[in-house]
Amino acid sequence: MDLFLRGSPLVAVATILATRSWVTHVFLGLVVLALTVPLGRVFCGWVCPLGSTLDVVHKISLRKRKELKKPSPTRWRWVKFAILVGILVGAALGTQMLWPFDPIVILTRTADVALYPLFTIAVSSLLAVMVRVPFLEGAAYRAYSFLHAAWFPLQQPSFRLVELFFVLFVVILALEKASSRFWCRNLCPLGALLGFFSQFRLLHRQVDESCTACGLCRARCRMNAVEDDYVTTSAVECIACGECVSVCAPRATHYAFRKPARSGTVDLDRRRFMGATVASLATVGLLGIGFADRGRRGSVIRPPGALPEADFLDRCVRCQECVKVCSSTGGCLQPSLWESGLIGLWTPVAKPREGYCEYNCNLCGQVCPTGAIQRLPLEVKQRTKMGLAFFDKSRCIPWYRGEDCLVCEEHCPVPDKAIRFDQRMVRRPDGSEGLVKLPYVVEELCIGCGICATKCPVVGQGGIFLTNANEQRWIDSQFSSQ
Ligand code: SF4
Ligand code: SF4
Repeated sequence: MDLFLRGSPLVAVATILATRSWVTHVFLGLVVLALTVPLGRVFCGWVCPLGSTLDVVHKISLRKRKELKKPSPTRWRWVKFAILVGILVGAALGTQMLWPFDPIVILTRTADVALYPLFTIAVSSLLAVMVRVPFLEGAAYRAYSFLHAAWFPLQQPSFRLVELFFVLFVVILALEKASSRFWCRNLCPLGALLGFFSQFRLLHRQVDESCTACGLCRARCRMNAVEDDYVTTSAVECIACGECVSVCAPRATHYAFRKPARSGTVDLDRRRFMGATVASLATVGLLGIGFADRGRRGSVIRPPGALPEADFLDRCVRCQECVKVCSSTGGCLQPSLWESGLIGLWTPVAKPREGYCEYNCNLCGQVCPTGAIQRLPLEVKQRTKMGLAFFDKSRCIPWYRGEDCLVCEEHCPVPDKAIRFDQRMVRRPDGSEGLVKLPYVVEELCIGCGICATKCPVVGQGGIFLTNANEQRWIDSQFSSQ
């Protein structure tokens, strides 16, 4: 999915607009956009993984219904252009709003956070059944070691918002019941962006005089791009999928680099354009409520290598690639709810009590498609401070019970140990006295990885917690002070 994300023209355009800077990570998306001018919406017809998924769902549902659908209404086509205008206006004002709508992001997010855990549960359950069957036992153990070496996380991943991401995806699939590619033709802002550039395409559908006007091309067109005369084809809507060519019995249809007389325009009048702009302005205002200064960090802990907060919010498309990859190592990252305000909804935040940042891991920076998390060499990441640990003396066992506990110090991965002890005579709650090793944090050494909070044996809220104090953000391989 990483390649698809990097190749999404909408991610590219919205990210460059929102950050007002050149972002090398999304260069491929611009190449795809440039190719739309000669080739039209080939991306929608042949590359987009969500479009292909919808085609499969549609084929399955069509097989059940057994009848050929009539061309479906075109009156909602303008909605996708309105959503695109909203996203671009938001980006121009410095607010990234593509994450609920970009099809590649939607599919990646669903696959990473909802389908991947479901898949691991299903395969693990199957293997658990297989080991009970004598002649399958060996195969089950071999499959188990292969999957765990190559694919599976050490522990069953569990993410927040799974249900929401799953339901949103199912709704998009269910819209296929209404018409083929309902999402693509009416709602997809990426399709709208490609459709806009596709007006100038050079590759067009051509129909010659052997056409018998049987109407099959019009009935089968997934995008309802063929008009009543069966000849005129909308350059904006046609995704060059080739369905009309394949169903045409007299072979009257083909594609060629030749412009026909009329070929369709963008379906968005001035009134709707203004409406989309006003809605976008209102949304930008709403997202900013409670977090008006986008540079403010609240109390969230970001992954190591994260850009300064305002840049991070502009670049993060909420794809959850980092969250998924993190679950295979330390598992500290989760999609945020309200921790960084509405504007930071679904961005990755570290939850040290649920998981930690693995000292020998720098994967999140490697998978982030937009560079919201910078790619840090491992030795640099191991020095990068995400936050700072603090002891809660009312909960930490040596501090409040007067008994030794070394768990946090033993797990601290920093070579010189950021947790140390001060041996002192203390009075315990039962009145007895004794020598106890009282732990403390060496501020200069703590990198805020959070493993101490994850492993702390105190039940419920631990005896040690993390804040984002001392955190270091990165930009272009340089530390940035916040
Ligand atoms: S570097 Fe840390 S936060 Fe990033 S994936 Fe690895 S464990 Fe997770
Ligand atoms: S920070 Fe995570 S969620 Fe945001 S764009 Fe990068 S990989 Fe995707």
